[in-house]
Amino acid sequence: TQFSDLSLDPRVLQAVTEAGYATPTPIQVQAIPHALEGRDVLGIAQTGTGKTASFVLPMLCALSKGRARARMPRSLVLAPTRELAAQVAEQFEKYSKHLKLSMALLIGGVSFKDQDKLIDRGVDVLIATPGRLLDHFERGKLMLTGVQIMVVDEADRMLDMGFIPDIERIFKLVPFTRQTLFFSATMAPEITRITDTFLHNPIRVEV
Ligand code: AMP
Repeated sequence: TQFSDLSLDPRVLQAVTEAGYATPTPIQVQAIPHALEGRDVLGIAQTGTGKTASFVLPMLCALSKGRARARMPRSLVLAPTRELAAQVAEQFEKYSKHLKLSMALLIGGVSFKDQDKLIDRGVDVLIATPGRLLDHFERGKLMLTGVQIMVVDEADRMLDMGFIPDIERIFKLVPFTRQTLFFSATMAPEITRITDTFLHNPIRVEV
């Protein structure tokens, strides 16, 4: 299988080609077609498997049509740390270069004011750490009712860092009829409880 076999939006495929990738990794082959069809995906994969592109590429294809409204992000990616959130943002930048999408990164250490400005303009892709996202939400600056796709990346690290209650809260703030792409290196009972509760008939992909 090649990326050109995966029914990606041509502008996304072009960015992948320009990044130098022709052959998708096993998690990408298994997850991308289901994610493009709108299915929930439970991906059990470590860092280094290409898991980030397995959610970034289908998200970009889904968001390529439509426009963001002020304070109502169309998609949400949760990452456990600032560094990981920033790495995910870099991949969104790389693969969205031929699309006109807006992105915002909500992480600690950056002023709320600057982040508020970005949110006010409308964002297609909001990438955040859970605590910082909830801080913004509690300040009343952000609505999550427009989220069509939600990603949880590195859930096992979220568990280690004590973020499971935050994740649970965020799942209750986004619409029921959204798509969820959920990634974890391991499946602890606390994580299985979350996926059993909040994912809808997910396709399970394990590499
Ligand atoms: P990740 O597992 O998402 O952290 O990705 C690990 C590394 O693999 C990143 O540096 C990606 O740029 C790279 N990568 C992602 N997809 C592919 C691919 N299909 N072929 C080769 N490298 C890739």
